[in-house]
Amino acid sequence: MAIREPSAPGPRPSAPPAAISAGPLAAELRGVRGVGPKRADALRERGLVTLGDALAHLPRRYLDLRRRDSIDALREGMDAVVAGRLEGLTIRARRYGRFRAASRAWLRDPAGAKLRVVWFNLPSYAEFPTNEPVLLVGRIAVAPEGGLQIVHPEVHRLAAGDAPAIRPIYALPAGVPQRLFGEVVAEALRRAPADRPGAIPAEMRKRENLLEPREALARLHLPPPATDFAALADGATDAHRALALDEMFAFQLALARDRLRSRARTGAALARRDDGAAARFLAALPFRPTSAQSKVILEIDVELAASVQMNRLLLGDVGSGKTLIAFWAALRAAESGWQAAIMAPTELLAEQHFRNFQRQAAGCGGLSALLTAGVAGAERARILRALERGDIPIVFGTHALIQRSVRLARLGLAVIDEQHRFGVFDRARLVALGAQANVLLMTATPIPRSLALTLFRNLDVSMLDEMPPGRAPIATRVLREPATDEAFAAMRAEIAQGHRVYCVAPLIEDEEDGDRASVAALAKNLGRALPGARIGTMHGRMRAADKERVMRDFRDGRLDAIAATTIIEVGIDVPEATLIAVTAAERYGLAQLHQLRGRVGRGGSPGRCFLIASANASGPALARLETLARSSSGADVAHEDLRLRGPGDLLGSRQSGALALSFAAFIRDPAIISHAADLAAEWLAHDPKLELESSAGARLAIRKLVNSGFSLGDIG
Ligand code: ADP
Ligand code: MG
Repeated sequence: MAIREPSAPGPRPSAPPAAISAGPLAAELRGVRGVGPKRADALRERGLVTLGDALAHLPRRYLDLRRRDSIDALREGMDAVVAGRLEGLTIRARRYGRFRAASRAWLRDPAGAKLRVVWFNLPSYAEFPTNEPVLLVGRIAVAPEGGLQIVHPEVHRLAAGDAPAIRPIYALPAGVPQRLFGEVVAEALRRAPADRPGAIPAEMRKRENLLEPREALARLHLPPPATDFAALADGATDAHRALALDEMFAFQLALARDRLRSRARTGAALARRDDGAAARFLAALPFRPTSAQSKVILEIDVELAASVQMNRLLLGDVGSGKTLIAFWAALRAAESGWQAAIMAPTELLAEQHFRNFQRQAAGCGGLSALLTAGVAGAERARILRALERGDIPIVFGTHALIQRSVRLARLGLAVIDEQHRFGVFDRARLVALGAQANVLLMTATPIPRSLALTLFRNLDVSMLDEMPPGRAPIATRVLREPATDEAFAAMRAEIAQGHRVYCVAPLIEDEEDGDRASVAALAKNLGRALPGARIGTMHGRMRAADKERVMRDFRDGRLDAIAATTIIEVGIDVPEATLIAVTAAERYGLAQLHQLRGRVGRGGSPGRCFLIASANASGPALARLETLARSSSGADVAHEDLRLRGPGDLLGSRQSGALALSFAAFIRDPAIISHAADLAAEWLAHDPKLELESSAGARLAIRKLVNSGFSLGDIG
């Protein structure tokens, strides 16, 4: 069955589109029928607080209940839809000792094949229609006595005309049933005013022949029976397109306005010195910069020397050597009497940069300091004083750099590494430490340059499109559940050699998958498969300090394996990590999988990657994974992703994308982005200050984007 996620699961909640975020939809979910305090809290954890949030939370996928699976074709893990008649019922209404009460039956399909059926805690015999055609909908599992069974299926009586057509399936926290959430959404739709504007003004919407936002949402939550299922599953209906275009319109409006604002800025002009610290740093490196690095250095050099403020995005594949650019630029600031601040999203990464810098550049006159939450007491006070006096030209750090107590005498350059990991306010605060600061944003988001240029019209873009020589590609294999022995055997072999292993699962704890795709379940599996191995777990909802501790233990060899969500993707370098396995791999975009596999093979030993598809992954999904197994360059992967899934995959996945966009994942055609940009330009020409009544929706949408951490636009 086609599985298409609006966006990969991630810690950051998505923003509801402006059109549905005010008025009656601002009402909290808590108190809506069926949502008590406990469920409300669980939903809040996922960023689902109001009815509007619920409306913006589109189904993760859909189940086509018009489909019929034949019993012979069932496989473990499948969500099956099987028709037949129930026979051989045994009912257990109570628990027996410690065994869970189970009612059992057989389903016989028209071809005569039989399937074991199991229910837990079935309320009454009346629920069991015997002697009439029924439809069962449920997950296929291996029965304790061998063979397959369908577990706790829904039963629909076909004779009664009680067969639904398309079932939305949501990503929900444990304890919030699908059906209940469906009712909440239906309630939200009932309360949503039909005439709330989208970001695109009504007259333009009409001309462009776009669905109203409320109608589009209704069609995605409660797909009408006539819906083209393939298009729906693939995120390619008119409703998807209308929502994506609306959101991209708001995004482009925000960028366009920002560009106008930032054009007039003057930035620190960093005088160039050919015999300065930056030049000496390059000369002293144990390797030669790649020609891509040299080209980017030149681009930045010219811009830093001028008195226009630099606002540059540096794109470069994992391992392409972005850090070197940052070090060079920092020295370039220092040698001309300015300060540079380099901010990284984790302590570990900030420390790693600081240490590498000390090793590679200390001899070049690059006096530097490290400022993280871990630096305290007298040391901290000393650093703060020196920064304020301008005695320390280069400072590395985390969020600690943007605390109130930090002042810089002359900030000429702000570098933000893994910039997509920061909220917009964090970035703005760092930049605000110096009125004339030049800004360099760095990210490994593997996004083709042409797309980056369309998207981020407010920034200049540099690209490291070449890897340092001698990198072996990560050997990548595609497996499919349950045939995963090869991956586990490889893990055991790596760990036996003192190497380390990452294992990635898409969810923290869940929900509709009955735990199968969760980090917790994965850790349990690993425990069984890797006897004696020390296994840690890590996910986005852990406290930052706990995450750092796990990463540190892993780096220093106190853990052999980590079961984690995709949060391990961020720039950390553990040379002993040689293998990464990604479960439910079909749920990710190729670009993101490529990022993940970049975590391994960074030391002397070659890296390996296992992409483990779910049992029910579709043929095309497997083929897509095979493409990744065959290609090793980020640029190839990004182009392939663009071709197969459109830019939405790059925009929509939180880990790889920089944008807090809810619906951009549905953009299949890059032309939608330029179209949105054209519409935005047209509208700005008509209403430059967005002050007309018909711009109300646009104003709301922009505000919403900014509040939710709108990416690069208002930097600078
Ligand atoms: P990323 O772009 O992912 O931040 P890094 O800057 O961490 O990549 O670089 C990855 C590794 O490549 C580092 O160990 C770095 O020292 C090395 N490296 C960078 N540039 C070169 C080069 N020109 N030649 C050889 N090795 C390089
Ligand atoms: Mg890096």
